[in-house]
Amino acid sequence: VLPAAVMDSIIIQERLVERLLSPRTQAQRSHPARLKDHEKQYVGFATLPNQVHRKSVKKGFDFTLMVAGESGLGKSTLVNSLFLTDLYKDRKLLNAEERINQTVEIVKHTVDIEEKGVKLKLTIVDTPGFGDAVNNTECWKPITDYIDQQFEQYFRDESGLNRKNIQDNRVHCCLYFISPFGHGLRPVDVEFMKALHEKVNIVPLIAKADCLIPSEIRKLKERIREEIEKFGIKVYQFPECDSDEDEEFKQQDRELKESAPFAVIGSNTVVEAKGQRVRGRLYPWGIVEVENQAHCDFVKLRNMLIRTHMHDLKDVTCDVHYENYRAQCIQQMT
Ligand code: GDP
Repeated sequence: VLPAAVMDSIIIQERLVERLLSPRTQAQRSHPARLKDHEKQYVGFATLPNQVHRKSVKKGFDFTLMVAGESGLGKSTLVNSLFLTDLYKDRKLLNAEERINQTVEIVKHTVDIEEKGVKLKLTIVDTPGFGDAVNNTECWKPITDYIDQQFEQYFRDESGLNRKNIQDNRVHCCLYFISPFGHGLRPVDVEFMKALHEKVNIVPLIAKADCLIPSEIRKLKERIREEIEKFGIKVYQFPECDSDEDEEFKQQDRELKESAPFAVIGSNTVVEAKGQRVRGRLYPWGIVEVENQAHCDFVKLRNMLIRTHMHDLKDVTCDVHYENYRAQCIQQMT
């Protein structure tokens, strides 16, 4: 049993801590009202998530998305459909002659998007020319070099004097477009993914899914999954769903994992289907709707990328891919 004087001093100290940490301290100073009974039981750190939330909203978010795949597979159309912006206003398409010896270029487009007061700086890194030349040996090299350069820049900034305003240009996700016309992965797809899988989160997509009927899509997905496994390619793995999530969320998570690789359709035109204006593609025999889950996995991809997994993609980039790069650098230095 502690002497009464010591107990008094502990109680006084606890109250002091409570007053210092309580988010209401400021308000109470100006309105010196008494603490309510239920507030007396808290130190106040339960408000920490709110403080983090407020601070991050103020700072804004950034996300860098890379798109890669043979030209003509609908990459720009899909990106525009995903973010409802026109990111490719001044794109120049090359003719066949110009593409014979074409080298892969890296083109960056940045837009600031705001939704309900939350700001997102979105950077799209496009890779025109990938897989377009007659000889595509090592055509992924400029892309891996670009990713490494961003890591290198970040590493340098992090070790420099002013670490407060580091611009993070690391690539958080790479959407890799697979042709719907083949029988699975082509050699260039395997080479590309193997060259990049330790550096970036790869999300493979089946492009132009409206070219295939549902059974063909199922078969192609299965085939791609088998080949990814066979060649030891490490694509982005969706994290395990928390056991305390509700049943609806768990079901959505299961469906998301079963749908990979997502079969997507892009369109920048709005058409009328069953009296409603929808984003879709109008054919003489019918309409394919981009946001209809019975037609393709576009909504699943958009939800994953923006609503549910954007933060995880950034975390994996930072904690796994960048950490690998950093460890290698430090090893070389020592
Ligand atoms: P990129 O070169 O990969 O950026 O491809 P584009 O987005 O420029 O698309 C090339 C062509 O394919 C254009 O004529 C598009 O209208 C068309 N296209 C884009 N997305 C789709 C799709 O999902 N399905 C079909 N069938 N065509 C598409």
